Amino acid sequence: MKNELPSFRYHPDPQQTGVIEKENIICEACGQPSEYNYVGPFYSVEDVEQICPWCIKDGTAAKKFDGSFQQDFDCIDNQEAIEELDKRTPGYFSWQGGYWPSHCGDFCAFIGDVDGKQLSNILAKGDPVLEETIKEEANQYQLSREKFIKELSGGILGYLFQCLHCGGHKIHTDLS
Ligand SMILES: [Zn+2]
Ligand SMILES: [Zn+2]
Repeated sequence: MKNELPSFRYHPDPQQTGVIEKENIICEACGQPSEYNYVGPFYSVEDVEQICPWCIKDGTAAKKFDGSFQQDFDCIDNQEAIEELDKRTPGYFSWQGGYWPSHCGDFCAFIGDVDGKQLSNILAKGDPVLEETIKEEANQYQLSREKFIKELSGGILGYLFQCLHCGGHKIHTDLS
């Protein structure tokens, strides 16, 4: 049995974000026992309950069930990256379906949920990419920057991403 979890470029710590849990399963994609189960979103015609991380990583699960792990993502000019994100990267929990942002021509890495306080801490260090995305999000809710950040600890849920190239942060939000 394999022990070391595979690494995912766009989702560095899926155990921390809760989509991969320690649980003894028989993977429906490879038929092998696994000590880890993927419990995040998977979009396919068939209802698939048990997928091992290795069948996400090598594309077996997506291929076998003709499924994908992402609901929606930025449109970027990089077919390989799209394939990797959609077919070989664990999704994340969200209320209204995930959206995966990009920056510097590549998808960002999903860090986890974020509240107003955590966001303020990142902003305090200076992050023009994050400032920009906050401006856009705040506009979307017709809130001021300050009000928006405050609401992130309340009615608005924030999902934090980081650019793999410049290190800037981006957020996606939805309403509970
Ligand atoms: Zn498997
Ligand atoms: Zn960037």
